[in-house]
Amino acid sequence: MQKGNISVQTENIFPIIKKFLYSDHEIFLRELVANAVDASSKLLTLANRGEVPGKVDNPRIQIIANPEAKTLTIKDQGIGMTEEEVMKYLNQVAFSSAKEFLEQYQDEASIIGHFGLGFYSAFMVAKKVEVRTLSYKEGAKAVQWSCEGDPEYTLEDIEKTDRGTEVILYLNDEDDEFAQDARIQGLLDKYCKFLPIEIQFGSREE
Ligand code: ADP
Ligand code: MG
Repeated sequence: MQKGNISVQTENIFPIIKKFLYSDHEIFLRELVANAVDASSKLLTLANRGEVPGKVDNPRIQIIANPEAKTLTIKDQGIGMTEEEVMKYLNQVAFSSAKEFLEQYQDEASIIGHFGLGFYSAFMVAKKVEVRTLSYKEGAKAVQWSCEGDPEYTLEDIEKTDRGTEVILYLNDEDDEFAQDARIQGLLDKYCKFLPIEIQFGSREE
């Protein structure tokens, strides 16, 4: 297992995410589903070019809410990430100055779009986030990244044989509404209509 600190250039990003973006916190689902859609669309593009080893079925996205465990899982069958990509994309939250961006972007939603905080919006609702991923690349090894809403993270090798990424949110007690089917269905209806990749949630299909 490796341990390290997420590199944030100026200040710790987590209090900002939690406090300043709090009012809009339900958008985390849109961000995570958008990432899953991106990863799935990229896989299809690479497969069309013959660059994906093995068989490629139509990738789909699954969302699983577990009210007992207070978890929400977003699972895709997209390109996944190698260990290097996890280090690069999930650990390096780089922006010049937190203060500067707060002054510049009063509109909370636009902060998230502009600064690529998409993935980190998960920490608005989760006290811990695990990412389990296997890249489509030949010979890639599966890894799990875990972070408890502070700059520390862990990264370890795991057993995972299916390509793609699973993001598991361990919800804050005050955000456990997001483990309820009805709440998630409402958000899918609001934010996740007409996507190019099939989403499966509960017994229904979007
Ligand atoms: P953006 O989507 O704007 O690039 P994010 O913070 O949402 O910013 O995601 C950062 C990066 O992490 C993505 O660009 C992608 O490389 C990687 N990533 C996030 N989620 C996934 C996923 N489900 N599958 C593969 N890569 C992902
Ligand atoms: Mg994104």
